[in-house]
Amino acid sequence: MNELRAAIDRGAVGDRLWLYSNYHCNLYCGYCLTESSPAVQRRTLSATRMIALARQAAELGFASIGITGGEPFLLPHMPETLAWIADCLPVIVLSNGTLLTDKLVTRLAPLASLPVTVQVSLDCSDAERNDARRADGNFAKVLAAITRLQAIGVHVRIATTGVPDNESERARLCALHEELGVSHDDHVIRPVVRRGRARADEAAVPTSQDNLPPELTITAEGAFWSPFAPTVADGRTDTDLLICRTTTPLRRPVEELLRLVEDRPPGNDAVLGIR
Ligand code: SF4
Repeated sequence: MNELRAAIDRGAVGDRLWLYSNYHCNLYCGYCLTESSPAVQRRTLSATRMIALARQAAELGFASIGITGGEPFLLPHMPETLAWIADCLPVIVLSNGTLLTDKLVTRLAPLASLPVTVQVSLDCSDAERNDARRADGNFAKVLAAITRLQAIGVHVRIATTGVPDNESERARLCALHEELGVSHDDHVIRPVVRRGRARADEAAVPTSQDNLPPELTITAEGAFWSPFAPTVADGRTDTDLLICRTTTPLRRPVEELLRLVEDRPPGNDAVLGIR
């Protein structure tokens, strides 16, 4: 689709299509954008649907696929689905890392020869503060998961949610990821966003269409402006950044997004850098 490629080339829209595989999670983080927990409505995209969307994305001109949730590895089919998707486009899957046991990682081994990245969450450089934000035992589980993924040759990134409030913690985090064999380029630090469970957090970053980069995001409920858009408040999905309910064929929400960015002035999304 020439219009999409042209918009990507001039920086008007992101080149990655995001898929929300599900909204449930084995954790319950206090800043979760999607109010995820084991008990929430699952809002699942089926494996068939995700693979079909990835195929359409490749045909339309997207460069990669992002999969997020919820915790994607709660879906039993995820290892095989990632392989199918990676057959179409490079894929990054965002995970809390706590389900990546020896048994599951064995099933991920075929991904080592495919363009697949697993981005694992790790918030602090020590277990005590990290686990207070995530869950008891989280730090140890995440470090073990990173080591297992690297042992089978799967590319790993680390994502830290919450900008460290002092330089020494930032330095300790950097030392930790380097010790783990994760390069500086593969460590992303992003602020807590004022949506979901953090919607009343004055220290969190408020977001709107003006400061979020447009990156088409598909959920079971529709197409949204950004992966930071289909958030949840009091159990209901936010619709302030909904593009349209129709997601099939993918061309429909792409056309809607292109219409929205047509005359969009440069925003401050590059300054916020929320990724
Ligand atoms: S922030 Fe991530 S790991 Fe924490 S509850 Fe939400 S989806 Fe789960």
